[in-house]
Amino acid sequence: MAERAYFDWNATAPLREEARDAMRDALGRTGNASSVHAEGRAVRRLMEEARSQVAKLAGAEAKNVTFTSGATEANMTALSAAITIGGRAAPRDRLFVSAIEHPSVRSGGRFAAEDIEALPVTSNGVVDLVALTKALERSESPLVSVMLANNETGVIQPIVQIAEIVHAASGVLHVDAVQGAGRIDCNVTTLGADFLSLSSHKLGGPQGAGALISRGDIHIAEPLIRGGGQERGQRAGTENVAAIAGFGAACAAAKKTDAERTTRLRDRLEAGIAIATPDAVIFGKPTPRLPNTTLFSVPGLKAETAIIAFDLNGIAVSSGSACSSGKVQASSVLMAMGVDPVLARGAVRASLGWSTSDAEIDQFLKTWKVLAGSLLKERRDIAA
Ligand code: PMP
Repeated sequence: MAERAYFDWNATAPLREEARDAMRDALGRTGNASSVHAEGRAVRRLMEEARSQVAKLAGAEAKNVTFTSGATEANMTALSAAITIGGRAAPRDRLFVSAIEHPSVRSGGRFAAEDIEALPVTSNGVVDLVALTKALERSESPLVSVMLANNETGVIQPIVQIAEIVHAASGVLHVDAVQGAGRIDCNVTTLGADFLSLSSHKLGGPQGAGALISRGDIHIAEPLIRGGGQERGQRAGTENVAAIAGFGAACAAAKKTDAERTTRLRDRLEAGIAIATPDAVIFGKPTPRLPNTTLFSVPGLKAETAIIAFDLNGIAVSSGSACSSGKVQASSVLMAMGVDPVLARGAVRASLGWSTSDAEIDQFLKTWKVLAGSLLKERRDIAA
């Protein structure tokens, strides 16, 4: 059987060798990171090294990194009205989230439904800054959550500008940086974010680990998970040290050069799609996008048909977000961008990563050509 080609990195990335090694080492140790004996201290050292590695990727201080079970929990923790700034209570009266956020943000965390407002995006999938500015007039102390880059389209949000608008309105900005981390700059300070969420498994660490990062003197006043005083009281529960060690190693291994390679391969992929199917629409193409993501649709081609055909030919792609696959509905991201629902239902996402090769792009385009051929034949038959 031919090798399989994996084009679903935005759903989850393969485990990096460095992460596997770090996890193997951590799994071989006995000790609770909270214990004072030598075994406990050795495990804590592993965890603190991982904390520094995660902090470095996010341009933060290690003490401002709180480990969680993943980005879903980090997002849920961050979306809380109870916030302290400089040690003082600074409660938030309203939550604003962009209409294209991951469901773990769109569901609004710990805010009541009536206190959550969705922010519109333009047809290119970028948060509408004029609408954002206007919306913030409806709040005295807003909390705003906008992602660094969208998981379906790869469109990068203008976080620096958004941070200026939010802070001018006495707001606090949370950024879900899950898809951007390790692919583009995700420095919490240069972005101007107050909080950042990261997920280990999108950058080559294991699933089930993540972090909520604060820029400094801003904190969540009420932990989501209460119990023991782990994570400086910010998140109770004995830490998953092996996963955390793998997460840290993956952050340290993330390289800028990966982005250059994936950009070239992604551009090759898109050029090949355009040749085989000139009427293919690539969503968000006119705007800055992640180097590894392409979301496209061809009139008349169903996403299910394409995904099954790709899978039978050894290629893993997805339709919109993996969390909603299995039921191919029009993606809420594309609907928010005002895309025609029929075209939106046909959207196929190919996402690449550091080990994607030219041979895999060839394999993808070969399958696409066959698919495009049968689609064009179908169209001719209908027209005849
Ligand atoms: N935010 C975004 C943008 C994502 O793509 C995902 C993963 N699909 C999450 C949050 C959730 O991350 P996790 O799987 O670590 O809970």
